[in-house]
Amino acid sequence: LNEGLRCVGCGALMQITEPQNAGYLPLSALKKAIDSEELFCQRCFRLRHYNEIQPVELTDDDFADLLHQISDTKSLIVYVMDVFDVTGSEISGLPRFVGQDNPILVVANKIDLLPKLLNKRRLKNWLQAELKSQGIQPADIFLTSATHPKNLDDLLETIDDLRQDRDVYVVGVTNVGKSTLINQIIKSRTGIQDLITTSRFPGTTLDRIVIPLSDGKDLIDTPGIIKRDQMAYVLSNKDLKYALPKNEIKPRTYQLNPEQTLFIGGLARFDFESGERTAITAYFENNLKLHRTKLAGADELYDKHVGELLQPAPSGISTHELIKHEFNVTEKSDIVFSGLGWMTVPADIKVSGWAPKGVSVLIRKAMI
Ligand code: GDP
Repeated sequence: LNEGLRCVGCGALMQITEPQNAGYLPLSALKKAIDSEELFCQRCFRLRHYNEIQPVELTDDDFADLLHQISDTKSLIVYVMDVFDVTGSEISGLPRFVGQDNPILVVANKIDLLPKLLNKRRLKNWLQAELKSQGIQPADIFLTSATHPKNLDDLLETIDDLRQDRDVYVVGVTNVGKSTLINQIIKSRTGIQDLITTSRFPGTTLDRIVIPLSDGKDLIDTPGIIKRDQMAYVLSNKDLKYALPKNEIKPRTYQLNPEQTLFIGGLARFDFESGERTAITAYFENNLKLHRTKLAGADELYDKHVGELLQPAPSGISTHELIKHEFNVTEKSDIVFSGLGWMTVPADIKVSGWAPKGVSVLIRKAMI
């Protein structure tokens, strides 16, 4: 591939090997594009022809650069998060770069995955507290579902209210649904088709999607930052599709005795180590099988049955081993298996959560 070829849409260096990254075009299409002198990367091509964007991923260093550039502007930051994976949605370093003058609107996406009866006000308060611990004081928190957007107009109105005369930067880690949301925004604005342009951040190869707003300001989609501790990196695509929730989660409650274990497919494990017999509620994809057993036999059961009785399993034999994390629970809490789901547990018990290496297990104040 000729080193110097750049996409005329976004300026990214053309490449044929990494579909998730900027400037990608499959080799066959690249040949055609060169012949027809229409050299657009796949992302810009789709944007032009189907009015649809595709996610692009970014390394931490690229992202730090990008945030830095945003911090030099007067902007509204729209910070898209996944309510099902709040910790996995965190952009570390975001508050540092945003500064006092750039307000943050948190868009808590995938609300359709949480139980419908959930108290929305409570959820917002809970999110507010979580964000505070990240050093973020949002101007507002907006709950939505990019796949079933009922309140898109409200969202756009909220954005308009908060931005005043600013540009809008939409940021988020990969998989939170940022592209889906932006595509909905593009679709909802009839006639905008011809107005969408792509351009790149000066001095970098990062492309961005610019959606003009009515007053000459722009809504700018930034590439998604990659988080390596997501479940997405230890599962094959097929298993990932199976293990991640697609619809409203039906909470599953178990009466557990101490020294009992729940396997979450072959992917994770929850041990009730000690405390009074109690109810524990699991929030995972509805089809994901939870298997209850005695703690004493759990290791052996896993070794014997991972990949059959206990499935899906992490892909690659070497990653079958689960890593243990211990918790003394002092208030009603969630034991979170990053990106996979969580168990809500009461105070005054001792538990352990196990997950594949690289997937974090943590405790937080109960969300629901
Ligand atoms: P991005 O990497 O942040 O741009 O995320 P995408 O827009 O590519 O979405 C990642 C995955 O989440 C896709 O499978 C989407 O279909 C799904 N998704 C996005 N928004 C929602 C939502 O509101 N609810 C649900 N259930 N899934 C969503």
